[in-house]
Amino acid sequence: MARYTGPVCRMCRAEQKKLMLKGERCRSDKCAINRKRAAPGKDPKERTVKPSDYRIQLREKQKLRRIYGMLEKQFHLFFERALRMSGITGENLFVFLERRLDNVVYRMHFAASRSQARQLVLHGHLRVNGKLVDVPSYLVRPGDEVTVKESSKSLTVIKNALREFGKSGVLPWLELDPDAMKGKFLSSPRRSDITDLADIKEQMIVEFYSK
Ligand code: SF4
Repeated sequence: MARYTGPVCRMCRAEQKKLMLKGERCRSDKCAINRKRAAPGKDPKERTVKPSDYRIQLREKQKLRRIYGMLEKQFHLFFERALRMSGITGENLFVFLERRLDNVVYRMHFAASRSQARQLVLHGHLRVNGKLVDVPSYLVRPGDEVTVKESSKSLTVIKNALREFGKSGVLPWLELDPDAMKGKFLSSPRRSDITDLADIKEQMIVEFYSK
């Protein structure tokens, strides 16, 4: 599947938000957002013009799509699925996104970024309940156990990510045993649990797709 292969920091500058696309660099002073560089291709005067509702909704959708590293078609499919479920569509969308295997692998600190997690999944380094799953969009269910394949436990990227980020612990809906390189998806999170994305206004995304 075609993916965006350009400079990813440019996406953060366009959204004027840290999308955390580059692992360690995102947490360092080298981050372009920390250095407060202007959004690419924008005249400073242009940014003072009040954006239209459509533009605000579009930007909100792009931000969330880029954070989870998805192409438009797949993101839209997730939205359609969230729409068909009972409950609040925006919240359902977050639950689906958080259940993606590449996201779970990232959240368990087996990878420094979601894109690195996607590569690990694609290359068959992960198991779900003991079985190989190499589909990044696979939806993990409550109770599922995610483990690093025995022969992949020596991989430097995984060891580094666990060493760097594992000490900060995992989110409340996950469990991690860093020594065994295994984790459990305990339950689907509630929207209010996803505090690192608290500023995303999912209602705008619902309005964007409802037009
Ligand atoms: Fe975004 Fe990370 Fe680049 Fe910072 S370092 S601009 S958070 S991708």
